[in-house]
Order: sequence, then structure tokens, then C-alpha cells
Amino acid sequence: MFNAITCKCGTSFEIEPEDIQIVVRDDLQARYIQCPGCQEKYLIIATDTAMRELIKQRARVRGDIFIARQKHFRGKTKTIEAYIRKDQELKEQQERMHADLVARGRELLREI
Ligand SMILES: [Zn+2]
Repeated sequence: MFNAITCKCGTSFEIEPEDIQIVVRDDLQARYIQCPGCQEKYLIIATDTAMRELIKQRARVRGDIFIARQKHFRGKTKTIEAYIRKDQELKEQQERMHADLVARGRELLREI
């Protein structure tokens, strides 16, 4: 996840977690990193309340999948399959919201 960016100004820099900044407007949160050369802002992730809820739900479902596998749920593959289907559904919901959030996040970065 943390890799290098080459900015349009020619500066290359690593995305370090401690350099990530956050801006909040209403329920929109945009995490971004700034080029140390020209201060151009790069959106990393934009979330709203609905997306953050989906992220939490997916973390829970993936935790359930992990635990189910750890316990070697013999004869309970249907349970695991149901968790995996649930995770897939949540992922698809996130994908449907993604483009709009990126657009809103970029707009917010232009305005600050
Ligand atoms: Zn730059």
C-alpha cells in the first residue's frame, strides 16, 4: 500500500503513514499526501459515513472468516461460504460508491 509517487513536478517521494493528512467536511473525510516539492495534494482515500460503516462491517466479516477457518469448522463450510458471500456483497457496495467518493474527495482537496 505504501509506495512511491512521482509528482508532475518531478519530485519522487514515499507515502509514509505519518505524512498522511486528513481533511473533514460534513461526513466526508479525505486522507491525502502532499508533494514535498510543489505541495500538490494526492488523495489516498475518501470516505463518508456509509463507506466507513461498510469498512467496519467488512473487518468484522473477515474476522469471522478467520476465526471460522482457525477452528477448522468441519462440516461448516456453508457458514464460511456465507461469510465470504457477505464480504463480496459488501465489497460490491463499496465499489459502487468508490468513484463518487473519489470525485468528492478530489473536489474537497481543491478547495482547501
Ligand atoms: Zn510536486
